[in-house]
Amino acid sequence: MEKSRIAAKSTPYWWEAAPVRPLPDQPLARQADVVIVGAGYAGLTAGLTLARAGRSVTILDKMNPGEGASSRNGGITSGNIRLSYAELVKKYGEARAKAIEAEGKAAREFIYDFIRTEGLDCDFQMTGRFYGAIGKENYEALARSAEALAKSLGIESHAVPHAEQRNYVGTDHYRGGSVRMDIGGLHPAKYHAEILRVTLAAGASVHSGVAVTNIDKDVSGFKVTTSAGAIKARQVLICTNGYTDGAAPFLRRRMVPVRSRIIATEELSPGLMSQLMPKLMMCGESKVLGYYYRPSPDGKRILLGGRDASQSGDPAAPTDMLRKGLVELFPELADVGLSHSWFGNVAMHRDMLPRIFENKGLTYATGFCGSGVVWAPWIGSRAALKLLNDDTSRSAFDFRAPPFIPFYNGKPYFMPAFIQVYRMQDRIAMARATR
Ligand SMILES: Cc1cc2nc3c(=O)[nH]c(=O)nc-3n(C[C@H](O)[C@H](O)[C@H](O)COP(=O)(O)OP(=O)(O)OC[C@H]3O[C@@H](n4cnc5c(N)ncnc54)[C@H](O)[C@@H]3O)c2cc1C
Repeated sequence: MEKSRIAAKSTPYWWEAAPVRPLPDQPLARQADVVIVGAGYAGLTAGLTLARAGRSVTILDKMNPGEGASSRNGGITSGNIRLSYAELVKKYGEARAKAIEAEGKAAREFIYDFIRTEGLDCDFQMTGRFYGAIGKENYEALARSAEALAKSLGIESHAVPHAEQRNYVGTDHYRGGSVRMDIGGLHPAKYHAEILRVTLAAGASVHSGVAVTNIDKDVSGFKVTTSAGAIKARQVLICTNGYTDGAAPFLRRRMVPVRSRIIATEELSPGLMSQLMPKLMMCGESKVLGYYYRPSPDGKRILLGGRDASQSGDPAAPTDMLRKGLVELFPELADVGLSHSWFGNVAMHRDMLPRIFENKGLTYATGFCGSGVVWAPWIGSRAALKLLNDDTSRSAFDFRAPPFIPFYNGKPYFMPAFIQVYRMQDRIAMARATR
């Protein structure tokens, strides 16, 4: 692999301004009302809600808090649900489908309000999001969805005809698209650091570098065995998402970790940035394995992400593949260097729906399918309300456990093949689209 085509750093661009760090060592309490496994957005917001309700809370993370997906992501507040409304109705009935759609809006509003009222300093900008169509038929479908979104949920959204596309994104790759204004961008690592700040201030005890290795039920609740000793808890909440290991075997058989990778360009000139991203919007595209991309919060770089089919090590090929995607969108960037390329794990339940569920007394809040900037804090806080027996705020995502995956025990050996199939589907869709 040519050296010039590989990024200078393999750590997240976000860690330049907000590095993930270990927390000061402190002894593990002998007991707590609630133990939470995982200190990403979900675990922390659950802990914050519980601590403010007066519960003693211990949050344990085997890495540094945030070192999972919560400081590595694209920072786009998409709050996406992978299944279409029709698919939701078919699988779960009309009432749950409607409630899930409505919760998407509530969850986005919840995090915007959370950022504002807590004063979270995380570079949040309500930029809107452009979504590119691959052909005329696809454009018409996006235009219909934008109209339906405005009508049914009152969300500001509209179609962007091909002729107006360059007002939003400086590429000819699409055949028009749509814009919705309720999606923005934030600095994910600052967002995490700020949620950690308020969670600690609320009195939760957060430990880094403490791995949970086993959870046993006992007479008064649970015995949680960790690399730093054992702790007893009345309740346990699992928020391990794409980093789930053998400590949560029931979840591991139901959830697939998938690598997602982001590349960041070197700083671009102001003229080039305003040509390529004139409105500094978040961007996505209508493909199975579509890219997501955005300007850095200072508006000087472009960050572009997509699936990474690799499963071990940190090979150069996925970076090169994203770079090709970037140049296909923006040929002007053919000679631009990459400052960073990194990956993290997103988590997909088999039915592609985030979830709060219970099994043998343990509660789980996971499966955000690459949209956890919105879903993880929302579902985390709803899971906390469930533990507080607050029935008034029961989430539409709180129901039976996701189905288990046959012949699977946590190693997604089938993913590279799946990704090849999805790529093929995208190529066929592109070839068939009226361009
Ligand atoms: C590259 C990338 C780009 C993304 N882009 C976006 C985006 O633009 N918009 C969006 O909405 N979402 C995006 N996401 C998804 C989003 O980042 C996640 O959905 C979200 O961060 C999940 O938060 P979480 O708290 O559930 O899990 P995580 O932040 O992954 O935290 C789980 C934690 O559990 C800990 N853990 C696991 N097992 C144990 C154990 N046994 N003992 C102790 N600790 C344990 C891990 O160490 C980890 O810190 C992206 C993700 C990636 C990787």
